[in-house]
Amino acid sequence: MAQLAGAGLAGSSVPVVIMYHSVIDYDEDPYLVTVSPARLRQQLGWLLRRGLRGVSVAGLVAARQAGDGRGLVGLTFDDGYADFISNVLPALADCGFGATVFPIAGRLGGQNDWDVKGPRKPLMTADQVRQAAGAGIEIGSHGLRHVSLPGTSDDELAAEASQSRAILQQASGQPVTGFCYPYGHLDERAVAAVRAAGYSYGCAIWRSEITGLHTMPRFFVGDADRPWRLWAKGVRHWLCWDYRGPGAGQLAQRLSPTAASAPGARPGR
Ligand SMILES: [Zn+2]
Repeated sequence: MAQLAGAGLAGSSVPVVIMYHSVIDYDEDPYLVTVSPARLRQQLGWLLRRGLRGVSVAGLVAARQAGDGRGLVGLTFDDGYADFISNVLPALADCGFGATVFPIAGRLGGQNDWDVKGPRKPLMTADQVRQAAGAGIEIGSHGLRHVSLPGTSDDELAAEASQSRAILQQASGQPVTGFCYPYGHLDERAVAAVRAAGYSYGCAIWRSEITGLHTMPRFFVGDADRPWRLWAKGVRHWLCWDYRGPGAGQLAQRLSPTAASAPGARPGR
């Protein structure tokens, strides 16, 4: 694969970052943002058995900048659903994994009103943000209101980036260094605002001509529309094709479809 623009990215490729949203048992999921707790555990177990480790994006970036991102996969949870506390934290702890959650600073304790079709889901309160931070989870910002940044005025854009950071730093008691673009929508103006607000990295969804440390693409496959084996296949493909850092050869071998699971591996659940 051709090298991406990769502005500010350490190493020669983009890091591997997986995107989740809500984790809860569900009946309807029109926006494909929900994964069942059993499915999440199955997916985390798949990573674990292959010697991969889920980490926060800040942790992943720091490791790569130190020249060692081997076997690390960034795990991100957008929107800061309250189900993160009940369903994600225990699953991460069981695997010894870290992660980044991106709450919406102006909607703490609210709900996902921007998804007009519903279903309505509660968002983390400020206390729950602090609880997640206390459990070792990185808190990043998903803006103030969950609006598409390219359509905002200069003042709104600055507030989305900087006020959200201040609110989440206050709530979490930890520095907030990562930003996640609502809907994955971004343009150069939005990226400049995120940099100006002091964030050291940004998470996007898709690759673009401005892919770099402040616009990292992420891997996403919905739970509702695809069997989880396709998720595994997709992650394997993403890792093998995109990871060009130290140990890439071993990683590709470990992930090859014919490779056996690691000895003593627990079955996925
Ligand atoms: Zn979102």
